[in-house]
Amino acid sequence: MGAAASRQMTPAEIQARAVCGARLPDGRKCGCRPVENPQTGFPRNGRCAAHGGWSTGPRTAEGLARAVTAMFEARGLTPRK
Ligand SMILES: [Zn+2]
Repeated sequence: MGAAASRQMTPAEIQARAVCGARLPDGRKCGCRPVENPQTGFPRNGRCAAHGGWSTGPRTAEGLARAVTAMFEARGLTPRK
């Protein structure tokens, strides 16, 4: 695991990338098209649907709290206080 592998890509780099490029178990690179955000029409993070292109979950504590609250509501449960 090198520094380049874990580094966040800049939006310009993501936009310039036409394929997902994730390393596959057999050493090749994934050639799928990256997932695009329907609202902006731009790729989300340059990865295809199979390699993390969709949401990776809440990024903030508030976001996580909102997601948990929504889950409880959807299931008809009461959150523990
Ligand atoms: Zn991929």
